[in-house]
Amino acid sequence: MTEKTMNKNHINNKIDEVISRYWNIAPKFATDIQIYRALCIVMREILLEKRYNFKQEIDTNQKKQVYYMCMEFLIGKSLKNNLFNLNLENEVSESLKKYNVNLDDLYKIEKDPGLGNGGLGRLAACFLDSLATQNYPVTGFSIKYEFGLFKQKIIEGWQTELPDDWLSTSDIWLVPRTEERVVVNFDGEIKEEWTNEGLIIKHINTTEVEAIPYDVMISGYQSKGVSLLRLWEARSLKSIDMNLFSQGEYIKALSEDSMAEAISKILYPADNHSEGKILRIKQQYFLVSASAQNIVNDHYKKYNTLDNFCDKVAIHINDTHPALIIPELMRIFMDEYFCPWDKAWYMVTNSVSYTNHTVLQEALETLEIETIKTKLPRIYSIIQEINQRFMHDVSNKYSGKMDKANQMSLFSYGKINMANISIVGSHSINGVAKLHSEILKNTIFKNFYEYNPNKFTNITNGITHRRWLNQANPELKNLINDLIGTSYYLNPENLSLLKKYKDNEDVLLKIDEIKYNNKLKLTDYIYKKNNIIVDPDSIFDIQAKRLHEYKRQLLNILRIISIIIDITEGKTDNVLPETFIFAAKAAPSYYRAKEIIHLICTLSDFINANSVIKEYINVVFIENYSVSLAEIIIPAGEISEQISLAGKEASGTGNMKFMLNGALTLGTYDGANIEILEQVGKENFFLFGMQDYEVEKLWRNGYNSVTYYQQNKKIRKIIDFLNKGINGKSFESISKYLLGVESVGDPYMCFADFEDYMNVHYKTSQIYYNNKMKWNQMSLINIASAGIFSSDRTVKEYSKKIWNIEPIE
Ligand SMILES: *Cc1c(COP(=O)(O)O)cnc(C)c1O
Repeated sequence: MTEKTMNKNHINNKIDEVISRYWNIAPKFATDIQIYRALCIVMREILLEKRYNFKQEIDTNQKKQVYYMCMEFLIGKSLKNNLFNLNLENEVSESLKKYNVNLDDLYKIEKDPGLGNGGLGRLAACFLDSLATQNYPVTGFSIKYEFGLFKQKIIEGWQTELPDDWLSTSDIWLVPRTEERVVVNFDGEIKEEWTNEGLIIKHINTTEVEAIPYDVMISGYQSKGVSLLRLWEARSLKSIDMNLFSQGEYIKALSEDSMAEAISKILYPADNHSEGKILRIKQQYFLVSASAQNIVNDHYKKYNTLDNFCDKVAIHINDTHPALIIPELMRIFMDEYFCPWDKAWYMVTNSVSYTNHTVLQEALETLEIETIKTKLPRIYSIIQEINQRFMHDVSNKYSGKMDKANQMSLFSYGKINMANISIVGSHSINGVAKLHSEILKNTIFKNFYEYNPNKFTNITNGITHRRWLNQANPELKNLINDLIGTSYYLNPENLSLLKKYKDNEDVLLKIDEIKYNNKLKLTDYIYKKNNIIVDPDSIFDIQAKRLHEYKRQLLNILRIISIIIDITEGKTDNVLPETFIFAAKAAPSYYRAKEIIHLICTLSDFINANSVIKEYINVVFIENYSVSLAEIIIPAGEISEQISLAGKEASGTGNMKFMLNGALTLGTYDGANIEILEQVGKENFFLFGMQDYEVEKLWRNGYNSVTYYQQNKKIRKIIDFLNKGINGKSFESISKYLLGVESVGDPYMCFADFEDYMNVHYKTSQIYYNNKMKWNQMSLINIASAGIFSSDRTVKEYSKKIWNIEPIE
């Protein structure tokens, strides 16, 4: 039975059957959780069958497939997405009446699988949806972290971290494929041995870790495509070391065991920051080794040859985290399939492609040579040889100029440079927005670009509009469907049909009303969670994203403090009602970021205890930012704060989600903001701040934040305010950070952009409060211009330009 022929009675029969089979009870005794699980099992069965049929078509047509390697997939909740994509929401709603529950209650039971930190992992999840919808064959590979990204709880204004046990409900979507397990080897030494195949290399005395795959199916929207997300779990191969056990070392026998399994225990919680921890490196190798074995073995089983490997396989590494797949594939080709080096290298470089996600120095990965030598000796020897051969080629091309070659080496200062491996070992490297891709070519990868310009390209990020508009904002969806039909579901560029309503007052009022309703929903949520009453008639100004210095939540805060100062001084002529909403997780070890959260929470408490200030503005910090929370927050946004220091935000995707939901972007000339600006025109975008070259120039000339402090009275007052303390808490360390007592002050140049930021906000509120129809029109134009930022467009570009794959007819 497929989703097309399912009706309410079928679904009831299936649910009843699962309930009696799994729990041995009559359906009328089932709890909500049991009904939730039973429904998920029914959906899982449909998806399995659908995936099976899709795979049959891929296999019989011998189609090229893409394997998307990523340490993170932030997929969000599955039940709603699957019901929506299978077009079963109505049938299921009907069938649930029998059990006296409704779908919304069941949706609430599911916990977000938090298998990602932020934008990078969410991008990977959007890709799986868009690829399935367009019938492209894809398998995503990642790790089945037992604990995803921590749950954030604010206690006395500070972030605390709690474990996230997503498996307690979302395990239901995982299908174990125990029979496809593989073994991943660590430690040991390498030994050369003469055999019939000639000189071969063996990796001996290893620590073996078993990798067990669990599959999650992600259906396309009304398509036959189903994407597979394969998550690896680490298990100790021997459940207990009998040797140690019989020597009486029981505890040791157990702890060896748990070391192996630690590999899939937790997701590292730092976004845009690399620490080079040994466990993280083990996770990376575990992912790529298990996946590469899976890919090559499957290919060989199917075709009985590797000769056509790069005609049938595209392997994408999302950032450098899975870059070790390059030497790992070399190992498999040479040591297990006895390919000569040149053939193996040809197959690797013609199948692998790489996306860079950041130019931030602290995020570029380097691995300690010593660690790789001891943990992965064979991989180390392969990287050495890759480098030797590459250095040879480079110095040939530059006729012996060794300085050029040295700059491009895979090794420097005792470290292995992962970006360099990724470039050398792949046929394509792309940035994620136009500006970002230019910066890659002109700065951090300049030498590589000059060496091989054809490898470099741009593919601007996207989001799945079906989750971020159709599912997250049902009222807006209904309005759009009434106006232009539903063709935009599969052809997002058709959203532009909305433009013909830009002067239609009824439509503009309707957009206004929908926004208001979404604000009311968020207002309720804030009241429940924070016990704060915010004014839904005030403008909702939202900054929701990871907390990071470069994203400049602090610039937003400087403005808030400046408004507070104006109000307390009685200068309220230009103060208009405004609700500032923040949501952000900080990496647990990132003290500066946590301190900024503390400042936001303290300002929130301060304002809510002050009846005068509260009349004008409010500040709310909503805890535990996640996909599900984003789905509540974003439809209520009016101002989308995208205020990173120019040149630092590779693309951003939050900016696209807000735009799609009718928020107006107030942002810098950075990442995909620039492309949003191009789409909507500068009259529908609030641009401010320096451009990236101005930032560079100011930095080169020696940025001195103190001069801004001396010249700008507002900034002086803000610093005084921080020094005086808020609610008896001192924030002197933040003013020191801004003025540079211990190091360069204000490294992300909030002061340099402050004045411009204040001014652009003034323009914003003038339109909002004096010309709401104009605002609504700007909002409509933003929605109508968002089609190009659908990940449907993004994955089509990857498929054509990089992967060379076609949809299954
Ligand atoms: C989209 C998204 C992000 C990325 O937001 P940016 O503003 O692009 O940094 C991060 N976290 C979650 C939960 C998201 O949905």
